[in-house]
Amino acid sequence: MAGIVVVFDFDKTIIDHDSDNWVVDELGMTQLFDELMPTMPWNSLMDRMMKELHSQGRTIDEIANVLKRAPLHPNIISAIKSAHALGCELKILSDANLFYIETILEHHGLMGYFSEINTNPSFVNEEGRLRIFPYHDFTTSSHGCPLCPPNMCKGLVIERIKATAYAEGKKRFIYLGDGKGDYCPSLKLEQVDRVMPRKNYPLWELICSNPSLIKAEIHEWNDGEELEQILLQLINTIIYEESNTNNNNAALISADCKFQTIPISNHESFPKALPVRP
Ligand SMILES: [Mg+2]
Ligand SMILES: [Zn+2]
Repeated sequence: MAGIVVVFDFDKTIIDHDSDNWVVDELGMTQLFDELMPTMPWNSLMDRMMKELHSQGRTIDEIANVLKRAPLHPNIISAIKSAHALGCELKILSDANLFYIETILEHHGLMGYFSEINTNPSFVNEEGRLRIFPYHDFTTSSHGCPLCPPNMCKGLVIERIKATAYAEGKKRFIYLGDGKGDYCPSLKLEQVDRVMPRKNYPLWELICSNPSLIKAEIHEWNDGEELEQILLQLINTIIYEESNTNNNNAALISADCKFQTIPISNHESFPKALPVRP
């Protein structure tokens, strides 16, 4: 086992859109969404939108069908399968909600690759309406993190994930994300970890504004193809490093690579496990 935990954001990282916006736009609710947006937190707004859809007679199956159409890059599917085949533990950390994420992952046959989904709880109530709740109940107390939205501090979740992983002997993290909410967990990563911000998205911009605040190595990516290539390269590099823990030279390979993608050519001599293709 690789001892690597790969944590994926979901919206605009695994799927190419924001799932909340995707549902709202596809079901013709954009105008109401935009009107209500300034008046309530995002998470509460999504619960409200589900109420509206239900009152218009839109069924949970219609919502599920819309979610199944959300574009997911084929290289991301193969990246997930390959990372799993290389022995990594995969987790999701998302500010979407459980129904959306499970519906999409199940549709693509990806549920079994993830050991954990950390997100806002949701369920279909007796009337057939999807209810969406905050991960952190901010009506009773605040999570106290000024960087994060009131319903979820991903930094707190990553600290919990890290504590559990360390207890199991897993020492390395790779975090992939795009949004503002992914900045707090990125700050919690250690030097031996990697963060993969999507280029020109808010997480990347926040990291760029002061890269010295990030201890982990930074590897940007643009699209599904690059995500797969870079993620598998990082995993193979870590596996190689771990297998040479007594050889100090191996650990130096990436010491000066902050904010660079390691050229593949440097790694051609590395023993590589074969990625699994769908
Ligand atoms: Mg995202
Ligand atoms: Zn936070």
